[in-house]
Amino acid sequence: MIPMLDLKVQYESLKAEIDEAIRTIVDSTQFILGPEVTAFEKEMAAYLGVKFAIGVSSGTSALEIGLLAASVQKGDEVITTPFTFIATSEAAMNIGAKPVFVDIDPKTFNINPELIEKKITRKTKALLPVHLYGYPAEMDQIMNIAKKHNLIVLEDCAQALGGKYKGKRVGSIGDTAALSFFPSKNLGCFGDGGMVVTSNEAIAEKAKMLRQHGSKKRYIHEIDGYNARLDSIQAAILRVKLRHLDEWNEKRHEVASYFNKLLSEKGITVPILDNSEMQHSCNYYTIRVKHRDKMQEKLKEKGIASMIYYPISLHLQKVYEGLGYKKGDFPESEKAQDEVLSLPIYPELTRHQIEEIVRVLTE
Ligand SMILES: *Cc1c(COP(=O)(O)O)cnc(C)c1O
Repeated sequence: MIPMLDLKVQYESLKAEIDEAIRTIVDSTQFILGPEVTAFEKEMAAYLGVKFAIGVSSGTSALEIGLLAASVQKGDEVITTPFTFIATSEAAMNIGAKPVFVDIDPKTFNINPELIEKKITRKTKALLPVHLYGYPAEMDQIMNIAKKHNLIVLEDCAQALGGKYKGKRVGSIGDTAALSFFPSKNLGCFGDGGMVVTSNEAIAEKAKMLRQHGSKKRYIHEIDGYNARLDSIQAAILRVKLRHLDEWNEKRHEVASYFNKLLSEKGITVPILDNSEMQHSCNYYTIRVKHRDKMQEKLKEKGIASMIYYPISLHLQKVYEGLGYKKGDFPESEKAQDEVLSLPIYPELTRHQIEEIVRVLTE
């Protein structure tokens, strides 16, 4: 049996430290915000090279709060990719904005910057690139387009924490960015958690208010807000784990590189891991194959997990029928949905396991 990821081995390696961190919170009875959350926010801001980090209740709320804090409003259009987890566009919908999709670059699975300008209208307010699977989106071009058209850029870093684009951490390039600490991300907590990061003080101030009922001072409410705070227990766990993130990402990278070597020898289309300018976080390891469903069946028979991220592009989802898209609108995204296959990846995956997965796949 090889699972997609094994959180248990990771927990066991840090059990004493994590249990102690949880115990300390329980003993303190300081469960909401407080010093652990503040300390974690400082540490994450330093890690990413941004000025501010605001802990929130999930990656989805980080996207929503990030958009609102950057002044995206009801009726605005937000340009994003149709080939992502639904939370990306859901965040725009939830604040009354409209997601506008742009097809992907087939080599990277990320939004194709060449196609963005055609979709800009008077209503466009923001660009919302996703660093899908952990590979950084083409940020230079995206930032240039944003500058030219006076748009906000929010990076969806849910899958990319620790990745780098031209020497900078992803999350530190756009006006603001959303992080997720869902357990299966590179830095996962023991439940739901997320973070808004930015170097813009006005965005940071507003995000801080939004996560806490629109208030800076208790019982003084300046704007509509949410209850969307990061729990102290999650912050305490994340502080312990953040110290290991780079080392885990390096190991993920070694796993992905070994997969790439073995699979490309067999003629399978493997992901671009990095060139001199990019660093992939390797949250997911995703290949492209022609007989995808058959391969997945074969893996399953041998007890090897695999997943399809994502089987239906967002423009073809029932929930977005009202947006008026149809099959054929985004050919690269539609091709990807039929060909992608994500294999198990986690820092502790052994060379032997990788060889076994490759053997079953290419038999
Ligand atoms: C996981 C994920 C999210 C949402 O994060 P949650 O913490 O689960 O709310 C958003 N965008 C992408 C690309 C994701 O993979």
